[in-house]
Amino acid sequence: MPGIRSLRAYDPGHDLVALRRKFAPQVLVELGSNENPYGAGPRVREAVLGVLGALHRYPDPRGGGLKRVLAAKHGIDPAQIVLGNGSHELLMQLAQVFAGPGDEVVLSQYGFAVFAIAAQAAGAMPRIAPALAIDDAMPRGHHLAALLAAVTPATRLLSLANPNNPTGTWYPAGAFSEFIARVPDHVVVVVDEAYAEMADAPDYASALALLPAHRNLVVTRTFSKAYALAGLRIGYAIAHPALAAVLERVRESFNLGIPALAAAEAALDDEGHLRKTLARNATERAALAVGLRQRGWAVSPSQTNFVLVEFGDGTPRIEAALLERGIVLRPMGGYGLPGCLRITVGTPEENCVLLRELDTLRSVDADERG
Ligand code: PMP
Repeated sequence: MPGIRSLRAYDPGHDLVALRRKFAPQVLVELGSNENPYGAGPRVREAVLGVLGALHRYPDPRGGGLKRVLAAKHGIDPAQIVLGNGSHELLMQLAQVFAGPGDEVVLSQYGFAVFAIAAQAAGAMPRIAPALAIDDAMPRGHHLAALLAAVTPATRLLSLANPNNPTGTWYPAGAFSEFIARVPDHVVVVVDEAYAEMADAPDYASALALLPAHRNLVVTRTFSKAYALAGLRIGYAIAHPALAAVLERVRESFNLGIPALAAAEAALDDEGHLRKTLARNATERAALAVGLRQRGWAVSPSQTNFVLVEFGDGTPRIEAALLERGIVLRPMGGYGLPGCLRITVGTPEENCVLLRELDTLRSVDADERG
């Protein structure tokens, strides 16, 4: 298929397994993959240990227990939920189901890379709408009017993330309700809310509240970020039951393993742990942004657990020097942002090490110049 021939696989960043081996016994400062550095709570650990004796069995093919808990949490019908082996899998399935050769998928410049991969893998044509300008209050954020203008009769899918990766930006709730009301019914709108739990800005709102009014809306969520379960691969999509049923057709029946199902349920049962993690992230996100701005670097506003930072011409050198010191960040060349790095918000200690090493690099630079 031509789409696959020209497809480049998702770039997961540095080879962390090799780096961990290289730096051992030193522990890497891993700030490249937007993981949650605090980990899951003790209830998750107990739940996972509790199912180890059942691993010779297949998991519940419907994930009924987890769907019931999710449905209660969000005030929806379990039939509206589709479980995914990470939300990445769901994004691929959404394109597989709703877009094909001859169809267009509308995406945003600086949108999440998987959207374009999914469209191409399905044989559809990605159509990229320009992002907001760099000097906008939301630099490089989603430009809803431009996305709407990119919709044609051939559009089948429109995917965006709120808040967005890699920019960290978000759009105001009111603007999105107006936007979706104007998207034609033949277009399925996917709002990827991988970082939604971390958003606390007064003008941020999840698209979940709009589901009853829009049968063409799909919201995806993940346990990889706020719930700190990236290693178990658990995501879910929420949509109208009819749309969810179509997605179910292509779902591999046992796509979530027994430990994953148990861990997700346990994580949802520990609101206190989640709240603690989110509060720490919010505090550290603000502190890290302040620290970087004080040193003269522009930092995009973020409602996530990472910040996008402008290091300018020196970016590759800074990135490589930090990597040599065991600090892993995410280069942004693949997103067309070679002068930026994406930095996951770490623990206070990790963020401190990062800022200290950046200061060391600057003083070395100053000495060389002086
Ligand atoms: N959407 C966004 C915006 C992301 O940043 C990520 C992870 N980097 C994902 C989806 C995929 O997450 P997962 O497959 O772990 O649920």
